[in-house]
Amino acid sequence: MTVNAYAKINLSIDVIGKRPDGYHEVLMVMQQIDLFDKVTVKWIEDQSEKPDQKQETAPNPNQMGKGISINLSTNLPFLPDDHRNLAYRAASLMAETYCRNRAGEIRIKIEKRIPVSAGLAGGSSNAAAVLLGLNRIWELDLGLTSLMDLGVKLGADVPFCLAGQAALNENLCLQWDERAGTCAVASGIGEQLEQIKPLKCWVLLSKPPIAVSTAQVYGGMDLAAIKNRPNTMELVCGIKEHNYHKISKNMVNVLENYSLKEYSSIMYTKNKMVETGKPMKALMSGSGPTVFGLYTSRKKGKEAFERLKYMNKETFFIKTL
Ligand code: ATP
Repeated sequence: MTVNAYAKINLSIDVIGKRPDGYHEVLMVMQQIDLFDKVTVKWIEDQSEKPDQKQETAPNPNQMGKGISINLSTNLPFLPDDHRNLAYRAASLMAETYCRNRAGEIRIKIEKRIPVSAGLAGGSSNAAAVLLGLNRIWELDLGLTSLMDLGVKLGADVPFCLAGQAALNENLCLQWDERAGTCAVASGIGEQLEQIKPLKCWVLLSKPPIAVSTAQVYGGMDLAAIKNRPNTMELVCGIKEHNYHKISKNMVNVLENYSLKEYSSIMYTKNKMVETGKPMKALMSGSGPTVFGLYTSRKKGKEAFERLKYMNKETFFIKTL
């Protein structure tokens, strides 16, 4: 089965503090966008023998427990196809947790469109798609809450990706769940979600040709030096009221404090977008490097895209979901 694995942008990010376990406590508003990878998951049951009748053979590094192996391929040659790939780890976790008594091969094919290492949750969305796909294929009937509990072990953004994909992919056969949705206030490490009505607008997205490590950005942040923080509640009110002045006033990503100073291409992209694209608001997504601009008019956004599409190779004009 094929699952559309959507990217996200952050309409705001506030970092509240650092927890004793090393994770950062955040408060942010996340929004799914119409840019997605296609993740196809297949299960090929081993018909020849039951796993407990199997002869001991030399260990296969791609094999889970006794009887499940994982075969992952993508259209990007530089992406890892083993346990370093988050989608692979999702399959492995699912197999270890729910399918110890089966034998066969999980085949995953990922058609990437979401830029990699971009602050758009590409890897997390792929992992979420694999969890949802295997839940359907193996008829496990797990609800969104159970899948989110599992997903957070893979990454803090995975629960939000699960919520969005559950709302957007009709082929998943999930029970209706109030945790499904495409826009949420996320707290904790990003895994505690409160769904809100999505922000409907157009998005110009541009990724400078650099990779940014999320860990490095959080590690480099001086929390005491943050002066301008988002007013998350005001932002949520603005989204509810379709008050675009309130929305743009309260959209702040505190991680820009580090990333804009550290990476000149992010600063350049943001400045260029503001000056030439004239969006309602421009902001860096996640820990960067992608910068996005919001437009209420498709025509204005498209014109800005035409002017700016040569700025970075990975520039898109899409809408929120
Ligand atoms: P986030 O917004 O959640 O911080 P990101 O968009 O910044 O994520 P990803 O595209 O998920 O970043 O990539 C981050 C790292 O994860 C890269 O080094 C990449 O090689 C690795 N990675 C592992 N699995 C995947 C995958 N399925 N798709 C993309 N990157 C992956």
